[in-house]
Amino acid sequence: MLSEFADFKQEMLNCPSTSHADDNTEIVEDDTNVFSMYDPWTKGLMLNPVRNKNCGHHYDRDSVMAAIKDSLSVKCPIVGCVSNIFVQHNHLVSNEALKQRIHTYKAQQGEEVTNDDN
Ligand SMILES: [Zn+2]
Repeated sequence: MLSEFADFKQEMLNCPSTSHADDNTEIVEDDTNVFSMYDPWTKGLMLNPVRNKNCGHHYDRDSVMAAIKDSLSVKCPIVGCVSNIFVQHNHLVSNEALKQRIHTYKAQQGEEVTNDDN
């Protein structure tokens, strides 16, 4: 039925988790950098990734905020990072694009568990 197909297409458009079904790698590639989706402190997927303007690395907002809240001398924890600048609140910018990629990735990982697509 054409109408059913149209509905299906509409669902595809509304659901971001189906837009890149084959992109299930753990690394996000940007124009110039390869980003990890994982927070260096918790080793978990970042829910609210923020980018360090000084070196381009990403952290989960909650993790980095907790780290710099108690200390003014926190350096970027990414292994191999060349930045010697202490991380400050105003160095961090949210990365909505990476956030969406991670949420899409999480949705894909959860598909087999939840499986609630009626
Ligand atoms: Zn760094």
